[in-house]
Amino acid sequence: MAKTDMLTFVDRKQATPPKRDAELRQEDFEEIYVRFAPQDAADQASRCSQCGVPYCQIHCPLQNNIPDWLKLTAEGRIEEAYELSSETSTMPEICGRICPQDRLCEGNCVIEADFNSVTIGAVEKYLTDTAWEKGWVAPIAVGRSTGQSVGIIGAGPAGLAAAERLRIAGHAVTIYDRYDRAGGLLTYGIPGFKLEKEVVMRRVERLTSAGVEFTLNVDIGRDLTFQELQRRHEAIFIATGVYKARALDVPGIDLRGVHPAMDFLTASNRKGFGDVVAEFDNGALNAENRDVVVIGGGDTAMDCVRTAVRQGAKSVSCLYRRNRENMPGSLREVANAEEEGVTFLWQSAPEALLGDDAVRAIRAYKMSLGPVDATGRQSPVPIPGSGFELAADLVIEALGFDPEDQPKAFDMPDLGVTRWGTLLTDQNSM
Ligand code: SF4
Repeated sequence: MAKTDMLTFVDRKQATPPKRDAELRQEDFEEIYVRFAPQDAADQASRCSQCGVPYCQIHCPLQNNIPDWLKLTAEGRIEEAYELSSETSTMPEICGRICPQDRLCEGNCVIEADFNSVTIGAVEKYLTDTAWEKGWVAPIAVGRSTGQSVGIIGAGPAGLAAAERLRIAGHAVTIYDRYDRAGGLLTYGIPGFKLEKEVVMRRVERLTSAGVEFTLNVDIGRDLTFQELQRRHEAIFIATGVYKARALDVPGIDLRGVHPAMDFLTASNRKGFGDVVAEFDNGALNAENRDVVVIGGGDTAMDCVRTAVRQGAKSVSCLYRRNRENMPGSLREVANAEEEGVTFLWQSAPEALLGDDAVRAIRAYKMSLGPVDATGRQSPVPIPGSGFELAADLVIEALGFDPEDQPKAFDMPDLGVTRWGTLLTDQNSM
């Protein structure tokens, strides 16, 4: 009989789906979490207390109707739960895998404090993976043609999501992307152990089947002008993401063996597709048998350290200037990285990269944490005389990203930008 009791969090402990053993995880790039068994998904969903003001939903960027699809899951009404979850999200199984739930829905779940949150992300993933398996994921219902066409720059998650909505509204859609595969960060940024690539590609194929055209290997502003896109389409949606890597500013940064995070991750993901990748094959972007140090404390840094482990690095360390409590990345990912053998050097910052031609070590110093700064985190202050050296023949910079200068890249000086460098939008014309 279908289970209908909710509020079971008082007696039922939080449980995430089983993880593969850490030693086995180090051997491959397959996802680490196994899917919930149906009864476990229902049990975990039933822990929800069905809040009148659901903080999980309020803190979800998509405003997903979480309490309602949790209740349907608890009742065993999985197809209805899937349909509800896909009303507000064009790719719930991907959100369930890679959203930082511990900072969003789960981090704001009201039962988080004493009983641990509902495992919302894992239930969301379970629902849509089940839907794909059962054939419930219907083709996109393309709307009656409006005779209008929209060009989308960027085949990442924003571009793919917009394309689906635009096809439902009846517009023709062409997506332009500078890479040779669609998916953006989902394809080339996020490693397979968090998001297996077939999961992304089946979404891309669903869009292709709905008539979305992909024009790949095209860099707008270089291979094709923005003005040409304006001639081709009634509207243009810019969904290029934020890709400009923040660089480390210390002596020795130009030594061989120092690379931005995205180059390292892209090379690794390309190898996963079976591509020939010169910089990986010649060893430059391959961590095998090397002492790897990743600098940064965000989710990209976690992706890099865990990728380096799987490539067979001799040692993998993460250097972060604040402590665990003040890091921007998901604590769940830190725990996964620690299980896989990564060493975290908290409150440590690089002072210089050492070596003649290639990097061989990092000289770093320890930091104390001062008052809370504008970001809401404690600001780090170097501790005099605390210097130490760390062996490193592959250094990966994972310090975050800034928007590129898009008006310049597109040769469109009239495009406005905000003080953060993102494009200025006019809500009244959207
Ligand atoms: Fe359920 Fe937690 Fe959301 Fe409340 S905040 S509705 S308990 S998931």
